[in-house]
Parts: sequence; C-alpha cells; structure tokens
Amino acid sequence: MNEKIPYYDCAIVGGGPAGLSLAAWLGKRGFRVVLFEKNSYPFHKVCGEYLSLESMESLLELGMPLESWELPRINTLFMSSPGGTAFTRPLKPGGVGLSRYRLDQALAARAKANGAHVLEQAKVGAVFQENEIFKLESSRGVVRAGVCCASFGRHANLDVKWKREGLKKPPNFIGVKYHVQLERPQDTIELHYFKNGYCGISPVEDGKHCICYLTTEKNLREQGNDILCLEERVLSENPFLRKALKEAVRLYKRPLTVSHVGFSRKSLIEDHVLMLGDAAGMIAPLCGNGMSMALHSSKLAADLVAQHLEGSISRDSLEKAYQGSWQSHFASRMRSGRLIQDLFLRPAAANVLVKALRPFPALIDYMVRQTHGQQPF
Ligand SMILES: Cc1cc2nc3c(=O)[nH]c(=O)nc-3n(C[C@H](O)[C@H](O)[C@H](O)COP(=O)(O)OP(=O)(O)OC[C@H]3O[C@@H](n4cnc5c(N)ncnc54)[C@H](O)[C@@H]3O)c2cc1C
Repeated sequence: MNEKIPYYDCAIVGGGPAGLSLAAWLGKRGFRVVLFEKNSYPFHKVCGEYLSLESMESLLELGMPLESWELPRINTLFMSSPGGTAFTRPLKPGGVGLSRYRLDQALAARAKANGAHVLEQAKVGAVFQENEIFKLESSRGVVRAGVCCASFGRHANLDVKWKREGLKKPPNFIGVKYHVQLERPQDTIELHYFKNGYCGISPVEDGKHCICYLTTEKNLREQGNDILCLEERVLSENPFLRKALKEAVRLYKRPLTVSHVGFSRKSLIEDHVLMLGDAAGMIAPLCGNGMSMALHSSKLAADLVAQHLEGSISRDSLEKAYQGSWQSHFASRMRSGRLIQDLFLRPAAANVLVKALRPFPALIDYMVRQTHGQQPF
C-alpha cells in the first residue's frame, strides 16, 4: 500500500523565501525534495520588499540572477515621526529593493532547476509522523518523507491544528501594501511613523516603489475597517506620508492586505517538523530583514538536514543542532526588533523618540546593528 505513495528525502510545506531556498539547496545536493505551495507563482505578497545585503552572497551562490536585474541599491534611511520631525542616516550595510513577485518566482524556478518537485496550488492539510516517516496530506495528494520542514509563514492552518505556543497571544496587526509610481530617490528607504503603526516606502525593480505599512487591527476597526479612511485620517497626520500618499500613482486597483500578523515567540520544532522562516518566529518588519532571516534559517537547516540524510547525525541531534543554531543566530535580533517596535508604537512615543534620536546618530546606527546580521551567510 505504502509503496504507491511517493517517497521523498525531504518534504517542505510553504514556498516563500525560506521553503524555496531550502528546496533549492537540498536539490542542488542531489536529495529528493518536494515542496507544497498553496498559491501559483508568480504572485504578490504583503512585504516591504527591502532585502538586506546579508543574503546577497547566498542568493548568488544559489545562482539567482540578481546582477542582471539592476536592482535599486538602498543605502540611506529617512525616518519621520507623526508630528513631522525627520532625519536622514546612511544605512549600513543597506540592501536592495526587489519585489516578492519576482524573488519568489525566481527562487521557485531555481528550486525546480535543481531537481526539486515544486507543487503549486497544493495546500497541506495535515502532517503525521509514524516510525520515523512523515506522511503529508495535501490538496494534490499524499506523500511520505524522511524529513519534514515547515516554512508556511507567520500564520497558517497547521499552526491552529498544532495549537502552537505563538498563538497564545493572538496576532493583532495587519499589513497593507501597494506598488506605486512615485518620484523619490532610488537609494533611500523611508520609514514614517503614524498613530499605532509605521509605513515603509522604498524603490523596487522597474522604477516602481513599494508602499507597505503595519498597524493594529484596532486602528483599522476604528476607521470602520476602511483602508482609505485609515490612510486619510490616521496615516496622513504625518505630513511626509500625506505628501507621499497624495503623489503616489497606485499600480493596483486595491491594496494587498494581510491580517493575523503577530510577533510572539514560537516553537522551533513541532512533532519533529523543523520550523523555518516566519514559521519559527517573525521579526518586526521595521527591521527590514525578515526575508534574509528566512533565507538564513534555511541555509542552516539545509546543512543539518543533509548531514542527517547522509546518516552522519541522528534525528535527535538534527533537532538539537537546529534549535541551538537558530537561537544563536536570531534570538537576540528578534528580541531587539520586538523591543524597538513596542517602544515606537506606544502612544505619542514616536514623536518623542524621533526628536530625541535625531542629535545622536551613533544611537540610530546601534539600533540598526542590533537587528541585522553583521556578516553575509
Ligand atoms: C507588513 C510587512 C512588511 C514587511 N517588510 C519586509 C521587508 O521590507 N523586508 C523583509 O526582509 N521582510 C519584510 N517582511 C517580512 C517578510 O515578508 C517575511 O519575513 C518573509 O516573507 C518570510 O518568508 P517565509 O518563507 O518564512 O514565509 P512566507 O513568505 O510567508 O511564505 C510562506 C508560504 O507558505 C504558503 N503556505 C501557507 N500555508 C500553507 C499550507 N498549508 N500548504 C501550502 N502552502 C502554504 C503561503 O502561501 C506562502 O507562500 C514584512 C512583513 C510584513 C507583514
């Protein structure tokens, strides 16, 4: 009976940067890999689309054609408070602007070229483990696998099924994104605070800009769940945002939105499944490096999963080594990100903090350093 169910060395649930890069790394090493993605590539995602430079080497090593895309190189931060205080700082090491539409599609192509089976329109509904073998049930059939990794993002059906610890504190933020035409410098990411939220504006490929903001569900509810009202009444209190929103020519009819965004700690292993990227914990978007962390966590996992599949480490050692490695690379960045976000989102705090930070550039650089990996991985 079981022989009829296809068997893979590794099954991956979710095809964002974390899952796709893991599929590409393991495929490159000759392992049999299957990845399930519930959507079809290419598709848009709510994300600020600022990709920090720490992941460049790794993406180039995977064969991603980053140089031919001539991406905007972002090395300057412009920050403003709701009351209109602002400053500019060089951003080190900085990043590039790249849409998720292009990044995820190219990573999927890379994973396929490396031999991974990338199944689109394939939603995983259940994962079981029996006698060291995983069984995954999806809308495109059942597979078995020796290792299972979950890279299904910040909130998914399996989180609910597994009653994961992060869900104890319900996620209560929403994200909104547009691609726009906007006359702005190509080297600058703008971070504008408004009441109970912040908005990033940065260039992406093909001369477009990405406007993306995070705020509380309560903030939106208070405006009758109307995004336009929220922008006109709340975001536009910040004079820089008011000007940008007025000048921006929107390239989609409606903004892309997500709800259930939260930042609480999560388990790194669930029923022997390794959690990667946002599924392991989401860093506050103002840090601008969730994608790099997702890519990095997968590179760490790929090395350990390969050792396990080659027989050099047991499953128990794989799980312990992955958790140890994740903690040492990301735990303090996550804490700093949460702390900075909580601080700036307190009522009226952004006005005071932006004013207070302006004369102390070294402090701003220090805060950026606390949330970023200092070395390429
Ligand atoms: C408002 C906002 C702004 C942000 N701005 C930035 C930024 O500027 N720079 C940055 O680096 N990061 C940013 N981030 C964070 C970044 O988007 C994430 O860290 C990154 O997408 C994590 O990648 P991932 O692969 O872990 O998950 P995701 O990219 O979320 O991918 C998960 C995938 O799993 C699929 N999936 C889910 N459930 C299932 C299932 N059951 N079966 C099959 N498939 C499934 C989903 O469709 C999805 O494609 C931002 C996030 C938000 C919310």
